[in-house]
Amino acid sequence: MSICDNLENLKRLLSGKDICVVAVSKTKPIEKIVELLDCGHNILGENKAQELVAKYEKLKEKSIEWHMVGHMQRNKVKYIAPFVSMIHSVDSLKLLKEINKQAKKHNRVIKCLLQFHIADEDSKFGLNLDECKNILKSEEFSTLNNVKICGVMGMATFTSNLSQVRQEFKSLKKQYEVIKSEFFANDNEFKEISMGMTNDWEIAVDEGATIIRIGTLIFGKR
Ligand SMILES: *Cc1c(COP(=O)(O)O)cnc(C)c1O
Repeated sequence: MSICDNLENLKRLLSGKDICVVAVSKTKPIEKIVELLDCGHNILGENKAQELVAKYEKLKEKSIEWHMVGHMQRNKVKYIAPFVSMIHSVDSLKLLKEINKQAKKHNRVIKCLLQFHIADEDSKFGLNLDECKNILKSEEFSTLNNVKICGVMGMATFTSNLSQVRQEFKSLKKQYEVIKSEFFANDNEFKEISMGMTNDWEIAVDEGATIIRIGTLIFGKR
């Protein structure tokens, strides 16, 4: 099946639902991305800053909305700040301040999601509810005018236990609701829940995802 077929099938399964598909193109060559662009999809995600920059440079003349979905080191923010549309993986105030600083240099506002730790694996990055609240309550946060917090992101445990995955997505949704009501009750732009990948996107959609991040299902195995 072609990349276009894969995308069409996914869109059909999402029929009627207002869900943003971020096509995760990591490790895939430029030709594959161009193939996807030619089927009319231009929302792309990468998980490494270096690869994101390289692909951005090669595809500069195309109209693409680039998302950074992977863990972000502070010293790499400056490379993606000129063009990145959304950073899904904000897990500290320090990182948020750096994104703000670099966005300001380019006179931009970068959309950000707060990443929550929902998996029962140590290796996955992210905040817990208290850490998140502390960021949003802080004096420093209130001065950051070049970042816009649009919602939350989470990654479920890599497991075949689907009821566990569902529980983890439920927990992300719950934490989203708490943050929404305490800090963004009147903010229409705080509305995104980024959860769900190739193996668990249907559960994520069931549990309220507004953004799904799909690599393998669109581009094939890596
Ligand atoms: C690779 C990746 C995805 C997509 O993974 P697939 O299983 O190939 O759909 C989504 N989110 C993040 C953060 C990733 O690194």
